[in-house]
Amino acid sequence: MKVDYLIVGAGLTGSVIARSLADAGRDVLIVDRRAHFGGNVHDHAHESGIRIHTYGPHYFRTSSDRIWAFATRFAPFFRYEASLKSLVDGELENWPIAASYIRRRIGEGWKPEFIGRPGNFEEAALSLMPRAIYEKFIKEYNEKQWGVPNATLAASLCTRFDVRLDDEPRLKPDCKHQGIPALGYAHWMQKMVEGIPVLLNFDFLKRRKEIKSARMLIFTGPIDEFFGYDLGKLVYRGQRRQHTYLPDTQIVQPCGQVNNPSHLGGPHIRTLEWKHMMDPQYAGRIRGTVLTTEVPYSPENPADYEYPFPDEKNATLYKAYRQRADGLRRTLVCGRLGEYRYYDMDQAIGRAMMLAEKMLDRTKPPDEPNDIRRP
Ligand SMILES: Cc1cc2nc3c(=O)[nH]c(=O)nc-3n(C[C@H](O)[C@H](O)[C@H](O)COP(=O)(O)OP(=O)(O)OC[C@H]3O[C@@H](n4cnc5c(N)ncnc54)[C@H](O)[C@@H]3O)c2cc1C
Repeated sequence: MKVDYLIVGAGLTGSVIARSLADAGRDVLIVDRRAHFGGNVHDHAHESGIRIHTYGPHYFRTSSDRIWAFATRFAPFFRYEASLKSLVDGELENWPIAASYIRRRIGEGWKPEFIGRPGNFEEAALSLMPRAIYEKFIKEYNEKQWGVPNATLAASLCTRFDVRLDDEPRLKPDCKHQGIPALGYAHWMQKMVEGIPVLLNFDFLKRRKEIKSARMLIFTGPIDEFFGYDLGKLVYRGQRRQHTYLPDTQIVQPCGQVNNPSHLGGPHIRTLEWKHMMDPQYAGRIRGTVLTTEVPYSPENPADYEYPFPDEKNATLYKAYRQRADGLRRTLVCGRLGEYRYYDMDQAIGRAMMLAEKMLDRTKPPDEPNDIRRP
């Protein structure tokens, strides 16, 4: 088998690069070791017809017209603006935390606990809110999520949430475009690579000899696995998911995601109800509802990797692998696993478009083959 561009990984990063190169007339092959398209964006149908996001809830949002135009080119999206709740003291409270909640609990004129430049996640969270609020919403949720004390985690993790100045319940009210593919993520991702050859159940690292030559290799799997873990293993967190079908109940929660931020509430961090995340015209016709709990753990199998571990040790190890990857000829290691970095879907698309444009700028089809058979 010979190809100009070999793309390892049919997730968003690999699929967007593949689409961009194929649209420019390049010869592209995608391989993925999973049995499905779409990487972690994949979803599947429960026997009831309810669509479950296989690797956790995915809410698409972007303020970029260009990224939205690209996304909606392959399938229609219905408008979906996520609103989340947290179960605190037996009540469902807004997440992110509503201003009125803090006023109610602490009083007008409340002050954050920590002043100064935060050196870790705990200080960063306390620089946003009083300690009592941190303890109810953040402390134990985060301990469950990462399995370590919050003071050992990077302060930058705190940029994933905010404290509201009002009671706005929507997670991202400022994002211009928000939605979910009306026929599901699996359909959307398959449409994205329509007409491009894809080999599923193909583990590149085990079967690379079957591909005689590729002029450019784009690898979107784990960067440490690519190098045979020879500098050590990067740590990830994943989630064990347990699904429960209630055939005689139409809906349980007021929204798709309810966080469970206390240890007393059990080891799961959140409960998802997928019907909320379906186009109402389909969801309304389905009998029953599916609830899913997610319990974090540290997976060994790369197929279960979800979140890169946000601490100094892993950041340093990643940098060492990155240096090696950047030194390789005609090889690009990218995507959330290749860059050991959390990307939202719109960020993954934007970055993949940029990488493809760079490749197209630099080359007609590349003229010297990359010997991909060498590890
Ligand atoms: C729990 C969770 C919830 C999320 N929710 C949201 C959300 O609400 N909104 C949002 O915008 N984003 C969300 N995201 C982020 C989103 O999932 C990512 O942006 C997206 O998955 C990135 O795609 P990728 O192609 O870089 O990686 P992946 O989707 O992981 O794709 C990489 C692919 O490479 C394949 N691969 C790896 N190694 C090999 C090999 N050796 N041979 C062949 N194939 C290989 C893998 O099987 C995989 O299919 C969430 C992420 C997680 C973990």
